[in-house]
Amino acid sequence: MQTSARSGAGTNQEAVRRHNLGTLLGHVHLLGRVSRSDLTSAMGLNRSTIAGLVTELQGLGLAEQVRSEAVRSSAGRPSPDVVPTQDGAHVLAVDVRVDGLTVARVGLGGAILARATGPIPASRDPHAVADAVMAMLRLVVRDAPPGSALVGVGMAVPGVVRRSDGLVRLAPNLGWRDVPFSAIMSDRLGGIAPVELGNDADLGAFSEHLRGAGVDVADLVYLSGEVGVGAGVIVDGHRLVGAGGYAGEIGHMSLDPAGRECHCGNRGCWETQVGAHAIAEAIGCPPDRVGSLGEMLDGLQEVDDDLREVGRLLGRGLANAVNLLNPRVVVLGGFLRSLYPHVQDEVDRTLHDTALVAPRELVRIELPGLGADAVLVGAAETAFERLLADPVTCLAAAQVDVESALSVA
Ligand SMILES: [Zn+2]
Repeated sequence: MQTSARSGAGTNQEAVRRHNLGTLLGHVHLLGRVSRSDLTSAMGLNRSTIAGLVTELQGLGLAEQVRSEAVRSSAGRPSPDVVPTQDGAHVLAVDVRVDGLTVARVGLGGAILARATGPIPASRDPHAVADAVMAMLRLVVRDAPPGSALVGVGMAVPGVVRRSDGLVRLAPNLGWRDVPFSAIMSDRLGGIAPVELGNDADLGAFSEHLRGAGVDVADLVYLSGEVGVGAGVIVDGHRLVGAGGYAGEIGHMSLDPAGRECHCGNRGCWETQVGAHAIAEAIGCPPDRVGSLGEMLDGLQEVDDDLREVGRLLGRGLANAVNLLNPRVVVLGGFLRSLYPHVQDEVDRTLHDTALVAPRELVRIELPGLGADAVLVGAAETAFERLLADPVTCLAAAQVDVESALSVA
């Protein structure tokens, strides 16, 4: 933690205490229910400090203490459990996909309390998309308990997002180029909460690392297989962002110079081989029904050569990713979640034959632990980060009457 040379010991202590308060809330948020003694060991602080921090979180309305469910193993009462107060604070999460929109209100502790899904406006015009998102957000805040603080809005888009200001540099499958979508949404929201905008695959990796198939996995790749294909990467427990926030555009690996034209302007990108349109073509799904590709794959009875070839191309690209990044786990998200069970042999065999032995021996392929919600949950988790960094300051600035604020926004 950095402090300025001029800040006194008192300021420093206060900063440390707030940091500890946020860290403790982070444990409660992720674990859902945790004993005070486990918090003591996890944070390396003494029991009375932990008890004081828990009391402070209770005072802020963010946590509660409940009787322990642990079996008494020795003399004395087990320490109480700490649980998040679901109504204490919430975030709004938005997943913008080429084939539809999903929004949710997510409570502290990570539970999805309300959700709405809908079509994306046919024009894909950013302002029309923002209007559609706003209409859905008004639906999910309708039942928010009075007094529950809105602490952030997290949004996922299938595109290359500049980390510094949420400018969407390129979302080829939405037809967006240099769209200030974060600013557009902040404006629509009337500034009632900070907006965090990120790339869909990055957010999928983040949530799977925190709550899904990659918990306790320090090196993970989440592959988002939608109309576009992208990767979110966790390296040594940290999110790989790159110099501008653009790392992970694996779908635009150029694999076939004579291949199909990609929406990015190049030719033969990996996503032209294994993206939703390639899968749809292989199973005879019309291009205008790509949104229901997941259900079609789930109900698929027979696998033909065209789909097996998509499986082999998926394995080949995965081998490149495995050689480059040496992940422990690769999570197949989006439509790849429904594709993989049909072509597992082709994917695994091609990966086995193409990747270098050393990194290949260490990797396992997994489906998302959070199912279809990985990206949405990741968007929610980024919106919670501010609260978990400093609960006191964040709550003081948060909006509590969200429904009325949004109805005029
Ligand atoms: Zn491309």
